[in-house]
Amino acid sequence: MALAWLELSTGEFYVCSVTAATLTAELARIAPRELLVADTLAQLPALEDFKPRLTVQPESVFDARRAERLLKEAYAVTSLEAFGAFAPVEISACGALLDYVRLTQKTAMPRLDPPKRQLVAEHLQIDAATARNLELMQTLSGERRGSLFSVIDETVTSAGARLLASWLSAPLTDARRINGRLDNVSCLVEASDLHQHIRAHLSECADIERALSRLMLGRGGPRDLLAIMAGLQSAHLVRVRLEKQENLSEGLRRLRGRLAGHETLISTLKSALKSDAGIFARDGNFILEGYSAALDEFRALRDESKRLIAALQQQYCEKTGIVSLKIRFNNVLGYYVEITQTHQGRMTAEFIHRQTLANNLRYTTTELAGLERRIGEAADKALKLELELFAELVGQVAAAQVRIVDTARAMAAVDAFAALAELAIKQRYARPTVDDSLAFAIEGGRHPVVEASLKGEKFIGNDCNLETSQRLWLLTGPNMAGKSTFLRQNALIAIMAQMGSFVPASRAHIGMVDKLFSRVGAADDLARGRSTFMVEMVETATILHQATERSLVILDEIGRGTATFDGLSIAWAVIEHLHNAIKCRALFATHYHELTGLTENLEALSCHTMKVKDWKGELVFLHEVGAGAADRSYGIHVAKLAGLPSAVLRRAADILHQLEEQQIGAKHLPAGLPLFSYTALEEKKPATYQAEALPVLEEIKALSPDRMTPREALDIIYKLKKLAE
Ligand code: ADP
Repeated sequence: MALAWLELSTGEFYVCSVTAATLTAELARIAPRELLVADTLAQLPALEDFKPRLTVQPESVFDARRAERLLKEAYAVTSLEAFGAFAPVEISACGALLDYVRLTQKTAMPRLDPPKRQLVAEHLQIDAATARNLELMQTLSGERRGSLFSVIDETVTSAGARLLASWLSAPLTDARRINGRLDNVSCLVEASDLHQHIRAHLSECADIERALSRLMLGRGGPRDLLAIMAGLQSAHLVRVRLEKQENLSEGLRRLRGRLAGHETLISTLKSALKSDAGIFARDGNFILEGYSAALDEFRALRDESKRLIAALQQQYCEKTGIVSLKIRFNNVLGYYVEITQTHQGRMTAEFIHRQTLANNLRYTTTELAGLERRIGEAADKALKLELELFAELVGQVAAAQVRIVDTARAMAAVDAFAALAELAIKQRYARPTVDDSLAFAIEGGRHPVVEASLKGEKFIGNDCNLETSQRLWLLTGPNMAGKSTFLRQNALIAIMAQMGSFVPASRAHIGMVDKLFSRVGAADDLARGRSTFMVEMVETATILHQATERSLVILDEIGRGTATFDGLSIAWAVIEHLHNAIKCRALFATHYHELTGLTENLEALSCHTMKVKDWKGELVFLHEVGAGAADRSYGIHVAKLAGLPSAVLRRAADILHQLEEQQIGAKHLPAGLPLFSYTALEEKKPATYQAEALPVLEEIKALSPDRMTPREALDIIYKLKKLAE
């Protein structure tokens, strides 16, 4: 299959080939607002999340030959090869999309880039469940605040924010490109105040691409021209500032080159537009004086006529002797002479009556009507001319649009890099080492979002080293000790590093991750009618089918949604599979302490635990990850913190004590599954009873009732009764 997508407001147009397996992650990354699909594919499971946004089309719309023709027409080329080597299925997708745009954008065809081909492997694959779990763009409750993006977004322009968001949704997998981005951030971090100056200029920059696209669609106005001018002006200032800087990174030098070349357009717009020009061209009055002699003349005529009207009022006052006589204007009557009722007798025949109000009388005169006509004509001519001038300016912008878009995108990139530099400095992030190894070594790693929310409290940094000899970490520890935080922070650090950002750690070395999977917590999915456990298993299945040796897998409490034995067995088998078959780097948090026994057989599995202190019966979380396994789960301590009634807590402690007594011996795993089950408690009594009853049974078995006298039978009853006592 192929997936083509475009952003109408900026004209970006992409296409890539996908499989049923990669489709979900790609859709999650792109997050389309509307999705066209052939009727034959509408039932694909991957599209389930997009049901409300689907527009189902007949399959004929996706015909490859028709699509090719449409594309060639749209870009006026004879062959599509100039844009890349497209697969027929990619051309189909592009063609169907283009056709739909043509159909829906009736006023004018928007400016669209030629489709750019992407490869799935170019990006770190993050499927929808993972993006949701890691709260990359929004939190689990659907809010932007509290997401990773909300914490790392220091951009000052909306185009910069859009670009940064796209980097976060699609981190790279090419070490050269990632390091290129990191070089740019480093350069801005090191050149102390450079990024501040750039950001000051950027904050004056309007949304050039959006303004341009409005103008090109015929929906723009004078204010959009102003926006383009302001944007290009700040591009110029940023360029000048970058030129002063020595030792610029290669990437920044290249961006700098894209900021120039708009001097003529800037000066034209500057001389043409009033700084307070309005939204709509039809309102007129947006062209500066001095830009067009003809326009100035019409305006002078209009203003002159207004002066003549003032003089006329003076003249009429004198003529009639009415001091309060006024010449006024409204939209119904136009210009009129107004007097109060009491002066009615003084009006001569020259004044033609138009309207009588409660207290006032209104008149017109031939002279006044003539003046009014002149004013109207001058204003009409002025507006017509202004509209012509507007179209001319839009024409000049249209002629330069490719370069304007290029500059706008370079500005967005400069904004994104300056923002990452600002973030790195403000939050004390470090530059990660990113290469093609399988390393994963984080020192003093922090969770960017939790850290930002701690306010005052110190976030405890933790190391994580998934080198080949210990690539699978098993993490135990009580609830609330910080397991989820630790798991997620390592995933987030990998994402940030591969998007080209500094990371919340004192040091980080990341060998390229191709796919990231995270299954955190047991989210209910009642809306889709699937049980929590079913969801958990579906997502685990996805991971086990798709993860490779290069992937990073984060599993938190897998198997919790079912009975202890089932859950434990599944968790057990999943770990073995990750370890033996997939061999990826993985973090596995569990409350099944029994699993720590697996280290005996799985050499790359290493046990870690969240440290806690039991201080006079109170639990103290240290939020520190240490080697080894938790000695117990402290569930009752946590229940106490949560305020469970003390009677329940005492009873729970009792039961735990009994259960633990039975557990002795079962700790020596993995000889077999642990004998941990609540039913063991109930089975205890019947078992004991049976064992003690054995001699009685032997006695009874030895009897042959048919050959017994009544006397012997009675003796036996006495004997059995004695045995039973
Ligand atoms: P668990 O998954 O073990 O139940 P969480 O990861 O949800 O625990 O952490 C519980 C809370 O502990 C977090 O909301 C956070 O406030 C705090 N916390 C976790 N890790 C740290 C840390 N490294 N430093 C400081 N506070 C932390």
